[in-house]
Amino acid sequence: MFQVPLPEKYQQLGRDEAVDRIAQCQQQLGDRMVILGHHYQRDEIIQFADFTGDSLKLSQIAAQQKNAEFIVFCGVHFMAESADILAEPYQKVLLPHMDAGCGLAEMADIGQVEQCWHYLQQNLPHPEKLVPVTYVNSTAAIKAFCGNHGGLCCTSSNCRVIFEALWKNDPETVILFLPDQHLGRNIAYKMGKKLDRMALWKPQKPNGSLSPEQIKNADIVLWDGFCCIHQEFSVEQIKSARAKNPQVKVIVHPECSFEVAQAADYLGSTEQIIKTVGAAKPGSRWLVGTERRLVERLARKMMVENIHVELLTDTRCICKTMNLIDLEHLAWLMDNLRQHCQDPEAVPLVNQVSVDEDPKRYAKVALDKMLDITASTK
Ligand code: SF4
Repeated sequence: MFQVPLPEKYQQLGRDEAVDRIAQCQQQLGDRMVILGHHYQRDEIIQFADFTGDSLKLSQIAAQQKNAEFIVFCGVHFMAESADILAEPYQKVLLPHMDAGCGLAEMADIGQVEQCWHYLQQNLPHPEKLVPVTYVNSTAAIKAFCGNHGGLCCTSSNCRVIFEALWKNDPETVILFLPDQHLGRNIAYKMGKKLDRMALWKPQKPNGSLSPEQIKNADIVLWDGFCCIHQEFSVEQIKSARAKNPQVKVIVHPECSFEVAQAADYLGSTEQIIKTVGAAKPGSRWLVGTERRLVERLARKMMVENIHVELLTDTRCICKTMNLIDLEHLAWLMDNLRQHCQDPEAVPLVNQVSVDEDPKRYAKVALDKMLDITASTK
């Protein structure tokens, strides 16, 4: 799937006109449509979002929007896929820019995962105890693999809850964690698992570069994937900030490296970061290790409470693919949607994300399991 070039008139649309068009479409379509905006989106997009949130919150919200015929997902491709998997058959999910993918999600290819699974099963003393868990930042094919092999999904907000449920059910469970090594390692370590019982599967190397012995000793096998945005944070940045101000508090996302997570004061998903900083004392200072747009928006909000918030790094730290969704693409998509609603035969929908029936069935098993476990622990 790729993004068709934007028609010339949209490329030349002024900012004000784009805003007017989107607002008009939103008004005309009313309850037939809902716009979901991920925390890493531009402010100009967030202003139109009916709901904002991280992957978990938006997956749950998407699943609850039974009246909306159209779900416009301002996020990345895997999020729109998840919304489609959880949606009712009459609902359609649209992504304003088809090239808005996720580098991390693309690091786990289904063929590689199947090879890994086969090798692990051959080398584990109890292959039936192997359970695949995928971070929602993964393709529908990987989610379907997990659903079809007794596994499930997780997000950075509920990863610990999911691991706890699996290890409580059977302490000898071996988790194959896809595709983000850092999230899996950081959370398993917080739960008391030892680093030397975590194996790293390198998909480009023969047998993942793991010996049968390493596999036998593992509580968790981590896929060698990462998010390049969260790789921008370093221990040096934390040390240098503390040297300037020893009172400063550091909170980072669990997609950051193990060393950064260890050096920080707190570890939290985007929703947990917003909650923790939101409950901080007036006068406190915070450095946040996650995507820039969320941090800047949080900083503006907290300024009124006299809480100072800054990004941990001075690099750009913007998710490039999220950033592809801009006013022009949203205006183009919304105009199309409005015209389609007036005459569905004459105007086909653009940018619909639709997962094939077979993977959808199993991916839904993996997502529903995650949502059920999360709901049962509240
Ligand atoms: S910030 Fe990283 S994990 Fe999140 S969508 Fe962008 S590339 Fe993917």
